[in-house]
Amino acid sequence: MTSIHPHSKAKALKPGSRRPAKELCSECGLCDTYYIHYVKEACAFINQQIAELETIAHGKSRNLEDENDCYFGVHQEMMAARKKEPIEGAQWTGIVSSIACEMLDKGIVEGVVCVQNTKEDRFQPMPVIARTSEEVLAARVNKPTLSPNLSILEQIKESNLKRLLVIGVGCQIQALRTVEKELGLKKLYVLGTPCVDNVTREGLQKFLETTSQSPDTVVHYEFMQDFRVHFKHEDGSIEKVPFFGLKTNKLKDVFAPSCMSCFDYVNSLADLVVGYMGAEFGWQWIMVRNDKGKEMFALVEDQINTKPVISQGDRKQAVQQSIPAYDKGVTLPMWAAKLMGVVIERVGPKGLEYARFSIDSHFTRNYLYVKRNHPEKLDNHVPNYAKKIVSQYQLPDK
Ligand code: FAD
Ligand code: SF4
Repeated sequence: MTSIHPHSKAKALKPGSRRPAKELCSECGLCDTYYIHYVKEACAFINQQIAELETIAHGKSRNLEDENDCYFGVHQEMMAARKKEPIEGAQWTGIVSSIACEMLDKGIVEGVVCVQNTKEDRFQPMPVIARTSEEVLAARVNKPTLSPNLSILEQIKESNLKRLLVIGVGCQIQALRTVEKELGLKKLYVLGTPCVDNVTREGLQKFLETTSQSPDTVVHYEFMQDFRVHFKHEDGSIEKVPFFGLKTNKLKDVFAPSCMSCFDYVNSLADLVVGYMGAEFGWQWIMVRNDKGKEMFALVEDQINTKPVISQGDRKQAVQQSIPAYDKGVTLPMWAAKLMGVVIERVGPKGLEYARFSIDSHFTRNYLYVKRNHPEKLDNHVPNYAKKIVSQYQLPDK
């Protein structure tokens, strides 16, 4: 890594102007601040440096010879967990919000970077620095859209914050780790979620309209471990659409180009990661990456039930078959998709093997995307662990 000079007060880019990463920009927010000065080094899509940053954040980089390390990144501990009393309206059971509330209430941090939504639109992200539990809770539930969380970075120095928790997804956290030492903080905690297949606000609309029967009443959705997308509607009803019935031909351009070229699904650089895909249905999945993560996790241990992670089934054939199917934009008739969903739920991969299924499917798809659209970036942009994962499969030549 090259060294960073103290930033001259560079000027933030105007909203809507072309970003340094061009079409690969994930709107992480860095370029909305004077920290744009560091963009060439910090941007996850210009300068992939996960291994180096892992060493700085966790004291070591992942061991590629260890399968769990290679797939899920550096970790001290991994488990399934859920809140004894789930937070109403959270994405899952609200472990992320609970940790953030505890950190504020106990005075461990003075502020929490999180993302609320605008008054007019429940899916329009509005990053804030929350100072109270109420403000943290107002940010619960995923905004399944690119969110400029780092756009609040200038406020940190202005408000003289010294101890901060940042909640964010992989690309935001990679940029944050690079500028971390410039922020004037005494202590930074990072609570991450996995992230994949994110979209712009317009892309989200298209996804909802092509996939849900009632797009306007969707409150949240998740690609679940039962191989169905679960849409939760305003009246509390759940609509389930099998993955295999998604109109892939129509949805091909929906996902943001940044997410089609991302290999940090598991948020490698956060201190603690809270997702769901490595746990059985109904449970969340926790990875404690380092001592700070351990400290954060301990704050909610009495509020949650935990159990060991499991791993069942064999993903490899399903992944290999999905590669040409996705490429050709195959959509199964709904009855066949439902049937396939039921069969695969019974015999398909579960627990960590499901997480590997999801990582393999996305990494192979994204590898092909980068190879076809940005061949000059392929070598440096794809981390070594992702190259190893992709090499298990046969990809089309072109
Ligand atoms: P809550 O208590 O509801 O809190 C959610 C937190 O997420 C809030 O603090 C909010 O600030 C933050 N947040 C919401 N939207 C965004 C955003 N766009 N960018 C940054 N931060 C945001 N987990 C998996 O295991 N596999 C996946 O494939 C996966 N895909 C995801 C895709 C997206 C776009 C996102 C945002 C998350 C994804 N997750 C995934 C994580 C998972 O859906 C839950 O967010 C996680 O388990 C935490 O649930 P919770 O109930 O504890 O969160
Ligand atoms: Fe700037 Fe972030 Fe976009 Fe990269 S992804 S160009 S750092 S806003």
